[in-house]
Amino acid sequence: RRDVENENRYQPAILTDGHRVEVVANIGKVAEAAAAVEAGAEGIGLLRTEFFFLDREAPPTEEEQYQAYTEMVRALNGLPLIIRTLDIGGDKVLPYLTLPEEENPFLGVRGIRLCLRRPDLFIPQLRAIYRAAQHGPVKIMFPMIATLEDFHAAREAAEKVRAELGAAPVEMGIMVEVPSTVVMAAEFAKEVDFFSIGTNDLTQYTLAMDRLHPALAKHVDGLHPAVLRLIDLTVKAATKEGKWVGVCGGVAGDPLGASILTGLGVAELSMSLPSVAAVKARLRDLSLPAAENLARMALKCSTAEQVRALQPA
Ligand code: PEP
Ligand code: MG
Repeated sequence: RRDVENENRYQPAILTDGHRVEVVANIGKVAEAAAAVEAGAEGIGLLRTEFFFLDREAPPTEEEQYQAYTEMVRALNGLPLIIRTLDIGGDKVLPYLTLPEEENPFLGVRGIRLCLRRPDLFIPQLRAIYRAAQHGPVKIMFPMIATLEDFHAAREAAEKVRAELGAAPVEMGIMVEVPSTVVMAAEFAKEVDFFSIGTNDLTQYTLAMDRLHPALAKHVDGLHPAVLRLIDLTVKAATKEGKWVGVCGGVAGDPLGASILTGLGVAELSMSLPSVAAVKARLRDLSLPAAENLARMALKCSTAEQVRALQPA
């Protein structure tokens, strides 16, 4: 079965009734772009750019970033690359950034909040992204968006960079990782090009459980119905505005999670490389009505345990 999965990894994930789901990869290193294609991914749904900024004494220059993003675009050979702007803070720290100690780093100046306060980091990255986008289908994604103001400020910074470079527009999406963004999804959906749901953080903030807390690990489950209902709301709001929704958190790489997400109307699933072939194989065994039925049952569950006990029909 493993062998068959592997042999078919370059085939798209087409359900038994012809519905197609895009299966893409999460990566965090330049060389992983080629590895993702090799693993059967149809592009990159999440490039974690933190890798660039970690383990060094100073931030990467615009030129270094431009070279690296361009190398990935080339390796992808026409497949899409979604570049997430720097998502530092919370659990991720940089040695050369002396940030004030925070009582609650996960509720502090992290992700887009940090970038908006540090144009010295944000602007060179945006410039590198727009320049690399000349070479292939690149999209920009902002992490940890919690308010419309944050998105507006990020978009304004990007738009200014684009105008200065005289570059072509690039599709702009946001990560949905904070419950407030789901509540305001109708408003966001009018303004963004796409949503990508980060179920790792969305679960943490919805259940108020630290995603790294060893004593809570068992309960921090992205298949909790509370999280699934938020995903459902997000997809409904996006669909009304004709926008697409992806998921790039851990749920997308879980075969049951991928089936439920497909039934909820998620169009793109982004996962770590080892999950690609297995998720594609699972989706090929499914029909869209069966996935929708599974999603309906999952939304009615009261606990994550009940969701995990569901079987696709
Ligand atoms: C997430 O929060 O689900 C996500 C994909 O981002 P990260 O894991 O990098 O925080
Ligand atoms: Mg996240």
